[in-house]
Amino acid sequence: MYNFQTLICYNCNSVMLNLPETEVAKLNGLKFRCECCGHLNLLEKPKFYKKELVSQALKIS
Ligand SMILES: [Zn+2]
Repeated sequence: MYNFQTLICYNCNSVMLNLPETEVAKLNGLKFRCECCGHLNLLEKPKFYKKELVSQALKIS
């Protein structure tokens, strides 16, 4: 049986994908744009992580 994994947007927490773990592993390293907020998510097992770390860091200073 498949173990399904729910991928949630890092930015707005909306559900973007619901896939078997084997499919998620194939998509590892790819980027997905959230249809809800437009945030670009990087898929790194086992979930999305924020991609724009550099631009975020620049806003602080
Ligand atoms: Zn989003």
